[in-house]
Amino acid sequence: MHGTLPDREADRWHYHPKGPVPLNPLFSWPPRPAAVLRWYRGAWMEITSLTVCLLLALALYAWLLPPLAEMAAFRPGWMLQVWLANLLPQAAVAGGLHWWLYIRKGQGMQKKFDTRDLSRGNGTFTFKNQVLDNMWWTLGSAITVATVYQWGIYWLMANGWVPTVTFAEAPVWCVVWMLLIPMWSGLHFYWVHRLEHHPRLYKHVHAVHHRNVNIGPWSGISNHWYENLLYFTTYFIHLIVPSHPLHLVFHAMFQQVSPVLSHSGFERVIAGETEAAKAGDFFHQLHHRYFECNYGTSEIPFDKWFGTYHDGSAAATDRTRAFKKQMYTR
Ligand SMILES: [Zn+2]
Ligand SMILES: [Zn+2]
Repeated sequence: MHGTLPDREADRWHYHPKGPVPLNPLFSWPPRPAAVLRWYRGAWMEITSLTVCLLLALALYAWLLPPLAEMAAFRPGWMLQVWLANLLPQAAVAGGLHWWLYIRKGQGMQKKFDTRDLSRGNGTFTFKNQVLDNMWWTLGSAITVATVYQWGIYWLMANGWVPTVTFAEAPVWCVVWMLLIPMWSGLHFYWVHRLEHHPRLYKHVHAVHHRNVNIGPWSGISNHWYENLLYFTTYFIHLIVPSHPLHLVFHAMFQQVSPVLSHSGFERVIAGETEAAKAGDFFHQLHHRYFECNYGTSEIPFDKWFGTYHDGSAAATDRTRAFKKQMYTR
């Protein structure tokens, strides 16, 4: 365990956050209100994937997304705008982060989890190149599926066939639902992701995402077509829960752009002397290294409840390896 024995796990990483990987204290018992406050302050009051996604959503809503009234009939103009509202932020954030961290190597190895660089000349990947592989599955597959789902939802909203709200009608609900979207996304992700680790689905579908043992910004939503069809069903919640188009834009950014940061491979983005933003998520980095652990997110501790939580210790690695072995030899 941490602190008592030499940490075998530390040798497997270039940088390794100290202590157990934190989980949302909202679910701790007995309650820890001060820790909960710190957790949410850390998520919403700094530059994190949440705040970046919220700012992107506001900007897209203000400047790129057409008014709902225009979307009542399928027409190329607004459909193209919705596609661009997905494509442009994805390319900008993943491209920008990849450039800073892996091309310019702006912060060297500081806060980088894995010792290795991204893979080239490796036949596992489409085009034999990890970055090109990931770009194709992100911009080709994921953004296409996400966009098609959103076309359908906006069209239904515009026709009044699903419940919608405006800020003037229900300001409190609009804010509360915005804050709950990441929670919903985490809940949906856990179950879809568990399903994808069923050996059959894994082999033909989810393995595309797991080609990336050592991950980079473009790995975030580098998924097989079938995986994307499942993964983006998270948006269908807006067919049931009264939503404003801004909720869907934010949900899209959270679902598409936040994985870019969480897969960046670096715990923080550092510019000069300042730690500019929280980025990588060691919880999910462990999932890419050891596979059969940390299926969910640290937001809702499903993995702790169901015994698949990897806290970053060597003991958890031993346990995960044993679990994986019995899983594939049955
Ligand atoms: Zn997985
Ligand atoms: Zn991943």
